[in-house]
Amino acid sequence: MLDCIIVGSGLAGISAALTLQSNRKEFLLFGSPSLSEKIEKAEKIHNYPGLSDVSGKEFCAALKAQLDEAKIEIKNEKVAGVYALKEKFSILTQEGNTYESRTIILACGVESIRLIDGETEFLGRGVSYCATCDGFLYKGKTIAVVCTTKRLEHEIGYLADFAEKVYLIPMYKDVEIDRDNVTIIKKMPQKIQGKLRVESLAFAAPPSEDIPKDLSVNGVFMLRESVAPSVLVGGLETKDGHVVVQRDMSTNLPGCFAAGDCTGRPYQYTKAAGEGNIAAHSVSEYLK
Ligand SMILES: Cc1cc2nc3c(=O)[nH]c(=O)nc-3n(C[C@H](O)[C@H](O)[C@H](O)COP(=O)(O)OP(=O)(O)OC[C@H]3O[C@@H](n4cnc5c(N)ncnc54)[C@H](O)[C@@H]3O)c2cc1C
Repeated sequence: MLDCIIVGSGLAGISAALTLQSNRKEFLLFGSPSLSEKIEKAEKIHNYPGLSDVSGKEFCAALKAQLDEAKIEIKNEKVAGVYALKEKFSILTQEGNTYESRTIILACGVESIRLIDGETEFLGRGVSYCATCDGFLYKGKTIAVVCTTKRLEHEIGYLADFAEKVYLIPMYKDVEIDRDNVTIIKKMPQKIQGKLRVESLAFAAPPSEDIPKDLSVNGVFMLRESVAPSVLVGGLETKDGHVVVQRDMSTNLPGCFAAGDCTGRPYQYTKAAGEGNIAAHSVSEYLK
């Protein structure tokens, strides 16, 4: 079994991976081949020790070279759920694969887009974050999909294969979905509503002449780059959307550590790298 699984390939995850590598631990680093949008998109970085006036793209290239040199691969799969079992963790990815490890480091960053009202309340009762995990549940049904990134557009096509009708609310430019059963709505919904399960998605005003203010749907898929840690890991203690950690980056779940933006402010590269390093050392101690 793996010693550790790191969720996230930003500064926190990379720093944790480099430290685990030098501590000779067996691990997987899950994330994106482009590492992190928050590194790639930075215009100029002035506050990282040893680097002055470097662009996000240059910083990304240097980090990729360092990972290559250390022979650390990034597993390009999105973690959809982390399940704490007896002395191990089971990880399910959106690609439908499962992995097991003795410890976890959450380094998944923070999503700046706010949750929609009702999202947490109806989670597992019509709200889903994972097309490949839950898409089949909506065979022949009507669903709404709120998608914040073009990178996940292929999942909309996957959902449209099952559902009879899909209302897509894209929060990115250049939508390229062209399916008869997909209707695009360019308005942000206000609230997910229902009794026992999701019944409708409410907008402030009718999005168009033929779409009502309260849109009847059987389910709502929220496709985002990152999922709130509390949603990703059942039973994880969070406060104001951040994972509650101790000085050694441990969380309330034994064997589960967290680092970087997901643990709270300040949102900075140096904090993320430092916490990733501490989390990896704590994992090594824990494994002893
Ligand atoms: C435009 C911009 C400019 C910035 N400039 C600066 C600056 O100059 N100096 C500074 O100190 N800070 C800057 N920041 C802040 C800095 O980017 C963050 O503090 C830092 O990136 C946090 O690192 P992280 O590893 O915690 O998270 P992130 O960099 O957000 O990385 C998280 C990673 O986890 C992945 N991930 C999330 N969920 C999952 C999942 N379920 N499965 C698999 N992978 C997942 C994401 O795809 C991403 O790769 C800037 C931020 C932005 C947006």
